[in-house]
Amino acid sequence: MVKGGQQMDILRLEDVEAIYGQAVLALRGLSLAVRAGSVVALLGANGAGKSTTLKTASRLLDAERGQVTRGRILYQGRDVTRGDPADLVGQGVVQVLEGRRCFPHLTIEENLLMGASHRRLSRKARATELEAVYALFPRLREQRSSRAGYTSGGEQQMAAIGRALLARPKLLLLDEPSMGLAPMIVEEIFAIVRGLNRREGLSVLVAEQNAAVALAHVDFGYVIENGRVVHAGTAAELQAQDDIQALYLGGGTVDVPAARERPRRPQFAVHP
Ligand code: ATP
Repeated sequence: MVKGGQQMDILRLEDVEAIYGQAVLALRGLSLAVRAGSVVALLGANGAGKSTTLKTASRLLDAERGQVTRGRILYQGRDVTRGDPADLVGQGVVQVLEGRRCFPHLTIEENLLMGASHRRLSRKARATELEAVYALFPRLREQRSSRAGYTSGGEQQMAAIGRALLARPKLLLLDEPSMGLAPMIVEEIFAIVRGLNRREGLSVLVAEQNAAVALAHVDFGYVIENGRVVHAGTAAELQAQDDIQALYLGGGTVDVPAARERPRRPQFAVHP
């Protein structure tokens, strides 16, 4: 067992360095923790390293010619730094990739069922689980027989999340769920994810550029810049920090170099 209270963390990244193609240094000693049963936001600008962090945790990084060159990844206290991505899915680490990634020629229902393809479900169990997803996302029930490519961006995002839920996640890694979607849909999606967290204890690490929306629905947040954590705090603490508001919450113009000179919390901060 892990000591020092770490058993409460479903995921820990410790001093992780990640490189693409042996050339692009995307993570430069990044550390974070997701407490079991919490929703944590990973905030940052374009290219800050949010997607890479999620792919490091899900082990999908290698599929993009990336590799972890330093540090370690702990899932439920076990070192999975060199783990197999498929095994991790079986253990409950499920990622929803950026850009929704539905199969456009398959129906919404066929897309959803892809999530359960590694599980041996009876017809009845499959129907029950599909029903649970349709109860969460009534729009998907209406569109169940439509080809995903003909549905809206919001419906495709919901289908991507529904597909992940059919994989039975304990830790959901959600990459930019708001991308390209109308504010009302984004709000609906975040509220559904938060509801799942509250009712079922699902742990979530969500990468977002839309920090205002994310911070309204999470417990804790990390702001990353250039592959490192530069701020960490509860949602309320991050919402209250003016420079973060200005830099990441669309709080108006800001002199970025001046903001960067402000004293920071120590890097690699994890949950208190
Ligand atoms: P975005 O919101 O634009 O996806 P991000 O914060 O998720 O930004 P990452 O996608 O993790 O950032 O990118 C971090 C760094 O790694 C960037 O410099 C990016 O150009 C680089 N990078 C990301 N994916 C790859 C890849 N497959 N091959 C090479 N470099 C990559």
